[in-house]
Amino acid sequence: MAKGLFDLTGKVAVVTGGNSGLGLGFARGIARQGGDLMLWARSAEKNAAARAELERFGVRVETRQVDVASEEAVVEAMREAEDAFGRIDCVIANAGISSPVPSVLELDGKTYHDLLAINMHGAFYTLREGARHMVRRAENGDPGGSLIACGSLSLFLGVPGMEHYAAAKGGIAAIVRGMALELGKYGIRANVVAPGYIKTDLGRDREASGATPTDQHFASTTPIPRVGYPEDFEGIIAYLASDAARFHTGDTIVIDGGYLIKL
Ligand code: NDP
Repeated sequence: MAKGLFDLTGKVAVVTGGNSGLGLGFARGIARQGGDLMLWARSAEKNAAARAELERFGVRVETRQVDVASEEAVVEAMREAEDAFGRIDCVIANAGISSPVPSVLELDGKTYHDLLAINMHGAFYTLREGARHMVRRAENGDPGGSLIACGSLSLFLGVPGMEHYAAAKGGIAAIVRGMALELGKYGIRANVVAPGYIKTDLGRDREASGATPTDQHFASTTPIPRVGYPEDFEGIIAYLASDAARFHTGDTIVIDGGYLIKL
């Protein structure tokens, strides 16, 4: 059944970190519009739960245990995705961790490199492998594709104690802009979605469940006065994955309830 302007019937999306939080929100946006899904993440249990939830939309969902920090694992998993589905139309490099420290003065090399290995290098391997598939497809007469990286407001704001996190987001956003320039001739688009503060598992190590001080800060200072939820990202991802976004590339789309533009 056609699903309007953002119909994704017949399209296939790979979502890294698709078993929880924002990644699951992105995957839900694809599934609601009829797109099939390949989810990558490390936990088999979380993968199985996400798959069961997404299959309720009547789409095909596959999962693989992939650590995106491993280039070999990403190369192999993209090949498997191509074999399993025959095509990949959209790749969402979303998998990420957060490892805040009290101060940049205490940001040791291991913490710095461990985060970059996942949030930046892993995102790069993922997008590059997706692009290689899409270019091969274009050269065989079937152009198009949508590459999406999950950014953050740390692209624009200084975030004390999260300099490594911001470096990863800034790095991958720079790569995405280069990909947009290189790959446009194949009809391949590359964009960043930059969320504001979203209630997911990412901050859970730091704070107990319920309305935390961070939640209260964002709810009281954001023009739309609440925190964000993964559900708030279903629409943008359906749009970016769809042919309706065929001329939209090289962009960083901020979805933050207006937090960034306040005084
Ligand atoms: P979650 O912790 O809920 O999700 C993180 C996801 O990444 C999980 O699915 C996790 O699955 C997966 N993951 C983590 N490490 C790896 C790895 N090495 N290889 C493969 N998968 C991995 O957090 P969020 O949903 O909040 O975070 C998702 C993205 O959103 C991140 O890139 C984050 O930087 C970004 N973001 C989050 C914001 C927020 O406020 N929450 C704001 C702005 C951006 P598993 O554990 O099974 O591997």
